[in-house]
Amino acid sequence: MRKNVLKLNSSWEAVGIIDWTDAVRLIYERKVEVVEIDGTIGTVSGPVDRPSVIVLKKTYKHPHRRLAWSRPGVLRRDNYTCAYCGHKGDKHDMTIDHIIPESRYRAITGGDNPNNWTNTCACCPSCNFRKGNKLLSECGMVFLNPEFKRYNPAGMWELELDKIPEKWEPYLVKRSKVTV
Ligand SMILES: [Zn+2]
Repeated sequence: MRKNVLKLNSSWEAVGIIDWTDAVRLIYERKVEVVEIDGTIGTVSGPVDRPSVIVLKKTYKHPHRRLAWSRPGVLRRDNYTCAYCGHKGDKHDMTIDHIIPESRYRAITGGDNPNNWTNTCACCPSCNFRKGNKLLSECGMVFLNPEFKRYNPAGMWELELDKIPEKWEPYLVKRSKVTV
């Protein structure tokens, strides 16, 4: 199964990325309209247009789901760039830093899950080693770019994929950043 169709809600907001077979089912059920196509798919009755972007005809009450935190998602969000020194790596050599260390997260924040979008950032191995189990204030490290914000990418479906099809770009909302 490959997720490769961008789903928009009736107000043309991206709400998910789905497999094209699911998209075809929605088309047959007349729940969506096709907005963009991308080549064709061979079927027993000949080639048919392959959907690339679809829009729901009706508004559904809860079209949003929060994008689950993931290491690859954090690296994509931060463009594989270390938040502390600016080193740009790739998915094989970059690590994730927990800004409030995992082992101290509960004591400091009262929260249970240090693996969240605002407590993590892309980090090169040497900065990660240097920071270790410390808070930024304890090791004298700062974000290289003072404007750096760890945003919660709710609705930023493109973080699920390595590469975004060009045809999707007009439909993806601009990233909104939140301060923590
Ligand atoms: Zn670094």
